[in-house]
Amino acid sequence: MTDERHTLDDEIVARARIHAREVVAESDLAVDRDALEWTVSGRARRRAGACRWDADREVATIVLARRAYERYAWSEFAGIVRHELVHAWEFQRFGDSGHGPRFREAAARLDAPRHCRAFAEPRYVLRCLESDCDWTADRHRASRPVKTPARYRCGDCGGRYEVEHAASGRTWTTASGYGGAKAALGEEW
Ligand SMILES: [Zn+2]
Ligand SMILES: [Zn+2]
Repeated sequence: MTDERHTLDDEIVARARIHAREVVAESDLAVDRDALEWTVSGRARRRAGACRWDADREVATIVLARRAYERYAWSEFAGIVRHELVHAWEFQRFGDSGHGPRFREAAARLDAPRHCRAFAEPRYVLRCLESDCDWTADRHRASRPVKTPARYRCGDCGGRYEVEHAASGRTWTTASGYGGAKAALGEEW
């Protein structure tokens, strides 16, 4: 992991904690912030946030997706933080959590979205092939950099990159590679 990503993860946790402190202070939802931990996932592709419960330690851990932070405006991301805070409160208070009436009522008090935000997995991921570069970019459409990667370069270092079809994991670096992957996948494309 690069220092840049460490810094970004620290920023995400710092902003989420401040937001949590504010909304808990404003509402009367008794979230125990001493029994609450935060972490950032760099791999989560589908879920913007999650809340895990360690019943032995009685500690709730809110997991926030780095991709969601990068993709959403803060106001939307803050809603994800509040949604997960409600899960944390349910775990701390009742030992379980879901999206039932109890959750909905508490979510309304925090003005949190009722549904876990799922974010669209990109169809394609561009990834730099240089060993000292960890540039990636998401693409939802088969744009030219997806179809003819050899004609383009990494957005950070100018090196070559590969394209991955996210659902299948197939990769290519050339236009013919793209054609071959597409033909091989057929219906699943
Ligand atoms: Zn949820
Ligand atoms: Zn690069």
